[in-house]
Amino acid sequence: MVKRKSEAFINGKALRPESLMMGYGYHPEWSEGAIKCPIFQTSTFTFKNAEESKAFFELAYGLRKRDPNEELGLIYSRLNNPDLEILEDRLALWDDAEAGAVFSSGMSAISTTLLSFLRPGDVILHSEPVYGGTDYLLKQILPQFNIRPIGFLANGGIEAIERVLADPDVAHRLGMIYLEIPANPTNALVDIAACAALAQRRSSSERRGLLAVDNTFLGPLWQQPLKHGADLALYSATKFIGGHSDLIAGVCLGAADLIAHVKTMRTIMGTMADPWTGWLLMRSLETLKLRMTSQMKNARYVANFLAEHPRVERVYYLGHLVEDDPQYPIYRKQCSAPGSMIAFDIVGGQAEAFRFLNALEHIKLAVSLGGTESLAEHPATMTHADVDPEERIEMGITDQMVRLSVGIEHPEDLIADLEQALAAA
Ligand SMILES: *Cc1c(COP(=O)(O)O)cnc(C)c1O
Repeated sequence: MVKRKSEAFINGKALRPESLMMGYGYHPEWSEGAIKCPIFQTSTFTFKNAEESKAFFELAYGLRKRDPNEELGLIYSRLNNPDLEILEDRLALWDDAEAGAVFSSGMSAISTTLLSFLRPGDVILHSEPVYGGTDYLLKQILPQFNIRPIGFLANGGIEAIERVLADPDVAHRLGMIYLEIPANPTNALVDIAACAALAQRRSSSERRGLLAVDNTFLGPLWQQPLKHGADLALYSATKFIGGHSDLIAGVCLGAADLIAHVKTMRTIMGTMADPWTGWLLMRSLETLKLRMTSQMKNARYVANFLAEHPRVERVYYLGHLVEDDPQYPIYRKQCSAPGSMIAFDIVGGQAEAFRFLNALEHIKLAVSLGGTESLAEHPATMTHADVDPEERIEMGITDQMVRLSVGIEHPEDLIADLEQALAAA
């Protein structure tokens, strides 16, 4: 549970995150009355006196215990900076996290967090498919440190994870369960609470099995992993949180002791975001709910249109899950809306998918997602080109599949573009 500042309450009642994004954690009297937090474009901070700086460094290096209510003073922008600290306070509100850390990219958030907790000899159990950069980290880099990745299909149900954990050697070495859900691009879900229980059961007194969830696709609005027992929520803030396709950043949220550990690694690896990116993200957070709500509503129009279209074979959209689908109860339990990522199989194969993509006039052909503008791409030859072709089919990523990230345009304009491009395909 977040330790909220007093300004987050009226008459003892907590204000909602969207009400707090404009000013939480910043006081105009700090900066000449400026209504907005300035950009603290500085590498270092002056100390009042040598005694103060000594006290700051003792805390920074963990040489003494922190007094209750004592915050780490500002030292140097690789350790901390007001734009990052205020941003971290605001980000924590959405997921009701105790603490947060902001990074220079989603990948630096993920790699710094994994290296903070995994040790040689560990196993990391992860859902498949995962983001290409994460896939490379898991399968190419971590094994160089004797950390073994074991994947399970996101659409395989909790049984797929239990099967892997039935091997006592794997169970004994479990360092982390890592989920990326909904899976990209098929929108497959994994039960977060069930995974949290599995990680808990593998924990010993000296070692805690952690559950980390990459929540980029639905969070922080429509899915909050920490509320379902995850230890860490990770984000590529490049996507919905930034939301304007104009910056690269990442986030890790969780309990204060875990985030303190991650921040130590961040300080040493130097993977923090810069003050300007921090400031841009604060600006983005003011409209986060507006944008994600508009995108989610547009996506529903688009998905319904696609599902009815004779040139579309299948639509992968959380809002179309039917009650007898094993994914449906998971969706109802842990997601509050279907988000704005849609994939669909066009009738035909790669040639038809390419003709469709080339015919789009308004929707841009690009990877990335979550921005105000709608984007389309071909997973099999773009975001997932690196995946072994056989495994790719097993994950449900066909040659006829197109992925859409739906933006905030007028939904009828989006549908008009899709309609003419489907006709051209
Ligand atoms: C984009 C993305 C990442 C990587 O984030 P960057 O900000 O590009 O480093 C990680 N996970 C998911 C699900 C993503 O979509």
